[in-house]
Amino acid sequence: MQKEKVLSGIRPTGFVHLGNYFGAIRNWVNMQDEYDCYFCVVDWHSLTTHPDTRELQTSVHRLLSELLASGLDPDKCVLYIQSDVPEIAELYFYLNTMAYKGELEKTATFKDKVRQQPNNVNAALLTYPVLQAADILIHRAVNVPVGKDQEQHVEMTRNFADRFNHRYGDVFPLPKAFNYGSKLIKIISLDGGGKMSKSENQMNTLYLADDNDQIRTKLMKAKSDIVPAEKNAQKSEAVQNLFTLMSLVSGKEVTEKFESDFNNCIIRYGDMKKQLGEDMVRFMSPIRERAVAIQQDKAYLSKVIKQGKEKARASASETLLLVRKAMGVNY
Ligand code: ATP
Ligand code: MG
Repeated sequence: MQKEKVLSGIRPTGFVHLGNYFGAIRNWVNMQDEYDCYFCVVDWHSLTTHPDTRELQTSVHRLLSELLASGLDPDKCVLYIQSDVPEIAELYFYLNTMAYKGELEKTATFKDKVRQQPNNVNAALLTYPVLQAADILIHRAVNVPVGKDQEQHVEMTRNFADRFNHRYGDVFPLPKAFNYGSKLIKIISLDGGGKMSKSENQMNTLYLADDNDQIRTKLMKAKSDIVPAEKNAQKSEAVQNLFTLMSLVSGKEVTEKFESDFNNCIIRYGDMKKQLGEDMVRFMSPIRERAVAIQQDKAYLSKVIKQGKEKARASASETLLLVRKAMGVNY
């Protein structure tokens, strides 16, 4: 039986953080055996917010190294760079003809970016969800493992695919946001405000590249709360985030102990953060060390890039043939 197709992407906008890791990459690694997976470093997307390209090559190489160090295997999945696949740009154009200004302006991520960069509200920023739809649809992928912040974009991709199918005939399966195992995860930043992000709020984000002391220090400074006065109280968002992180990297028993301390109003956040710091270091340092070694091996990285490009273009050009045929753009 043919395996279902999966597509997901990540922007080379900075250092990979725990939100990327637990919201996306960890799922990708787990999916490689079961699905026909395409994972993409989406460098065009980064140009919508990061027009300065001086660091781009380094960022792309570091990101690829971090993905490989996290366990992506280029022989099991197709790991490639978006700009290596020009077919995506062609599909992006066709989809742009069926995406409407009003719906694009309403997208939550667009509104955020307009607030963040009022002097660079470029057309590609507005059509970001269309390019993302092209990324997904170019392989006719059905499962899109993303974090919670991206759910709306996947919904828009379904709409564009559906419109295309109605207008020109069935070419695209309707994709869905997908989380491997449990519900979509969002890791918020350590000061309790907003999500961890590559481009913002760096002191409150844990990066895979952080050294052991940085990890410990950032966690010790993380926002917590007052000790609850009543048993089984509701956790604040910041405290819940610490528990989420703990459940991801500490043993079950450790997490349960602190849960029970919280519920019995005897929690010591300092102890909890110290424990979390040690468990986090244990979890993150082997990934960091592997990533550094891979990034230095330029020959290996070029081989991975070339192999990914060939496989991704083969799949993309198949879809584009179907698209052109359905649209009558073939002479
Ligand atoms: P940027 O700030 O440059 O947009 P980002 O951290 O949002 O960077 P993206 O490259 O936009 O990262 O997204 C890569 C993947 O990581 C997406 O699947 C996204 O849903 C997921 N992701 C990003 N931040 C978080 C977070 N804090 N929690 C969970 N998942 C996240
Ligand atoms: Mg983002």
